[in-house]
Amino acid sequence: MNSVIILAGGDGKRLNSQIPKQFIEIDHRKIIDFSIIEFKKNKNVDEIILVFPKKFIDSFGKEYKDYKLTHGGKERFHSTQNGLLLCSEKSENVLIHDAARPLISQKLIDDSINLLSKYDAVAPYIDIDDSLIELNTNIKYLDRSKIKSIQTPQSFKKKIFEKAIFKSKKGYTDDMSALINHNQNVNVKFFKGDKLNFKITTDIDLHNFKNILKNEK
Ligand code: C5P
Repeated sequence: MNSVIILAGGDGKRLNSQIPKQFIEIDHRKIIDFSIIEFKKNKNVDEIILVFPKKFIDSFGKEYKDYKLTHGGKERFHSTQNGLLLCSEKSENVLIHDAARPLISQKLIDDSINLLSKYDAVAPYIDIDDSLIELNTNIKYLDRSKIKSIQTPQSFKKKIFEKAIFKSKKGYTDDMSALINHNQNVNVKFFKGDKLNFKITTDIDLHNFKNILKNEK
């Protein structure tokens, strides 16, 4: 059984908006709805768990009665923990996705689930196009071919992941780092992601997302 946790528990402070970015409405759909629809469409997804910010759970929660819903926490890993607590006991795999990445594809979901038959933890990556420097007293150029940018969904064998995430005490920027920090011997696979699966973080990202939707029509 495959469970999906869609993390929408953050306050999206980097975007100029009264409400967190994942609840902004475009074409009568909230940003989070785009990923809910895509996961719902996938025949191998058995349950979807939503994690909302505590202060928005009453207002936005009403529209999501068909889903298991819980509140987020201060750090991302707190939100992931709360989502995991709602996963069915029968669940073997858990896919964790940022609500702020609305252009998740069926291929990414399929690749994640298929790879979990061979690996304990899998996540998509994309290459870096720009030159990279370490900005220090001595500026150092980094080899961009060796550095990758990590996306979601990040997917795990639930039993292995649970052991790590419930022991997390510090802030991690993603779930895979929480696992790797806890368990170096885990069998991890990073696979080719998709540039369209970008995270809406700033106003420019939101603008780009709207343009992509406009061009699809
Ligand atoms: O902050 P960042 O852009 O990395 O957040 C990625 C995703 O994780 C967002 O969808 C956000 O709502 C979610 N998140 C969360 N709980 C937090 C922080 C972020 O669910 N405490």
